[in-house]
Amino acid sequence: MNSSPMPAANPQQATKATDMHDRPSANFAHKLDQTQALLHSAARDFTPLKQASSLGAEDVVITDLINRLQLPIPVFVLDTGALHAETVALLERLQAFSSTPVEVYQPQRAAVLNFVRHPGQAAIYRSASERQACCQIRKLEPLGRALTGQRAWITGLRRAQSNARAEVQAVQADAQNGVALTKINPLVEWTWGDVWHYIATHQVDYNPLHDQFFPSIGCAPCTRAISLGEDFRAGRWWWENASAKECGLHAPSVQPPAHPTLTGVTS
Ligand code: SF4
Repeated sequence: MNSSPMPAANPQQATKATDMHDRPSANFAHKLDQTQALLHSAARDFTPLKQASSLGAEDVVITDLINRLQLPIPVFVLDTGALHAETVALLERLQAFSSTPVEVYQPQRAAVLNFVRHPGQAAIYRSASERQACCQIRKLEPLGRALTGQRAWITGLRRAQSNARAEVQAVQADAQNGVALTKINPLVEWTWGDVWHYIATHQVDYNPLHDQFFPSIGCAPCTRAISLGEDFRAGRWWWENASAKECGLHAPSVQPPAHPTLTGVTS
């Protein structure tokens, strides 16, 4: 599935992402109802569970819904030590104002320093395996700790984000560190315009990098703005093969929904 082209980057332009992208689908109200029903069902049937937030546009929508619906779902953020200043500032605001708890997981300091010593942080640009080693240290190991003891996790994956995500299901079996759990993707059918319609309508706080043509925001060394006609995830690991733009958090999985007790599920 091809994702929507983005407008050209123009540093002189001070257009807000909400102005650029607020274009809801004709059936947006129905999608929102389905998403809210899925979140209610997940909280009822999958406790303990958490939302994984990158603080990107999709994730701030989900956290806003969790807060508005007063669901007992904590949020966690992986602070890799390499986030943009804008992302760190947004994390502080989220911690200050969210009613649901916001947990922060950081990498093991010794492992980070060992990598910085050898092969050195710049090695991520020279070799896919070194880039993946960095993601293992800064993201995957902390993710494993964040998900310990959980039955499920909630993510902001959408099918339209990339070809690699075209088959994502609203509820799917998953495994992290060999432990089976369930991944719940409440925005799976949302478009980019739907996401920004929700943000604009509910005045959700978002990462200002979205105003600077960063549709997908990760670590600072591995994220850039995109230009006219570029793919949605072109700004992530742009020096690597376009078909493999994942860090391992969302490795392709597995089986379609195995939990018929869930209601409000779209697939
Ligand atoms: S996204 Fe880049 S900086 Fe962040 S963990 Fe992966 S390789 Fe390291």
